[in-house]
Amino acid sequence: MNATLNAPPEKKPNPTFGKREWLYPRVVKGRYYRWRNIVSWVLLAALFSGPFLTYNGQPLFLFNILERKFNFFGVTFWPQDFYLVAIGMLAFIVFIVLFTTIYGRVFCGWACPQTIFMEMVFRRIEIWIEGDQNARKRLDASPWTTEKILKKSAKYSLFFLLSFAISNTFLAYIIGKDALLAIMTDNPANHLAGLMAILLFTGVFYTVYAHVREYVCTTICPYGRLQSVMLDKNSVLITYDEVRGEPRGKMQREKGMEQRIQADAKSFHPLPLATSSQPKGDCIDCKLCVQVCPTGIDIRNGNQMECVNCTLCIDACDDIMDKIGRPRGLIRYDSLEGVRTQKPWRITTRMVAYSLILVLLMSVWGFLLVSRSDLDTTILRAPGQLFQREPGGMISDLYLVELVNKTHKDKPVSFRVAYPGAKLRMVQPITKAPADDLTKGMFFILLPEKSIHQNSTKLVIEVLSDGEVVDKVNTTFLGPVQ
Ligand code: SF4
Ligand code: SF4
Repeated sequence: MNATLNAPPEKKPNPTFGKREWLYPRVVKGRYYRWRNIVSWVLLAALFSGPFLTYNGQPLFLFNILERKFNFFGVTFWPQDFYLVAIGMLAFIVFIVLFTTIYGRVFCGWACPQTIFMEMVFRRIEIWIEGDQNARKRLDASPWTTEKILKKSAKYSLFFLLSFAISNTFLAYIIGKDALLAIMTDNPANHLAGLMAILLFTGVFYTVYAHVREYVCTTICPYGRLQSVMLDKNSVLITYDEVRGEPRGKMQREKGMEQRIQADAKSFHPLPLATSSQPKGDCIDCKLCVQVCPTGIDIRNGNQMECVNCTLCIDACDDIMDKIGRPRGLIRYDSLEGVRTQKPWRITTRMVAYSLILVLLMSVWGFLLVSRSDLDTTILRAPGQLFQREPGGMISDLYLVELVNKTHKDKPVSFRVAYPGAKLRMVQPITKAPADDLTKGMFFILLPEKSIHQNSTKLVIEVLSDGEVVDKVNTTFLGPVQ
């Protein structure tokens, strides 16, 4: 037998295999889009104004990693408050896990800066300059004409300007608005590092929004990657109702449909109608939900990691359902269990329990924040120093003190040792703790030799301000045992 007859048919090479498929999501505007639009503008206004707003003379938000100084809603956090940051971070991680388990990726679609900037700002500019899906495809496929050069230059120039604005805002969150202003107005030679940082951030943002785009959500973002371990069948996601939608197929013409077809012919999304006698599910396989998807997936294939819950496919499908006279919600916010049982989403015991844990965590954090001391004192015995004998039968130890005033006002301070016969002699005196600053000093503590009964005596040093004890520090005193 001829061997070539049994050989498997030769596969044609796929020219796009292994290459990125550039996406051209179609424009859709519905009720969710309008709500997301409002939320986006509020969040954008908060993001851009955050570093420039002040409270009690302090920036509302500052994340100065270089000087280890953080301001959150006008409250200053110091390295001494690290335990608060650690608990806050822990609560935040638990919050993310629990919130995602219950409500899915609501954050990605409604509040993530990447989605907001990409879909509500940069994509809109692109559509404004280059047109909707087909116009953009045609433009990209066309040779470099004057029109194409002008459109592309306008688009990428605006992208660069916006990236520059985002970069400046981002830097203002790190170094503060005054330092940013100094970079802008002072001699550039004095701010080379700052200028380099602005350029670097601008380059990163420009690359992300002009080229990387949906890959940030589908490949790079760790939150997106972790979805599979956080979600379960009861998590609320944007879900296609396959019970109602399948078997999908082109729609049957029915009474009154002709008028709708004629009216629809002039509309934004013409209906793909065909005659058929087969009974079908509600999905008419128009693929509009796929065409509007900014990550290029088909939600009808089930929940996928690439879905950023942007709600565009809901709007697209609701529009189609309105046109074919079927109820909205073939694609909707629902859980897999909700779709399977066809019961409306309801609050479960698990959700209540998770929410209570969240409230508890946030309450603990809030209590620790409110009850933290205004003055934070660290007192350590000077390293490498032993005790000294002093006149009058006294023994002295040398101590180093660091005092952080977390308030926005100067505070008078003094120290007192709670021990019978003890004295305190300042070497580097501290009488005042300047506002929002760290002060260092040194003092000797003297104890009567006859009162020392062990090598290491426990002491409590009280820090006083305006006659009130504002902090207590435990330390030890080394001396000869009598
Ligand atoms: S938009 Fe709705 S009807 Fe059209 S393909 Fe998607 S799920 Fe089916
Ligand atoms: S499937 Fe696509 S369009 Fe629908 S919510 Fe997810 S990312 Fe958005």
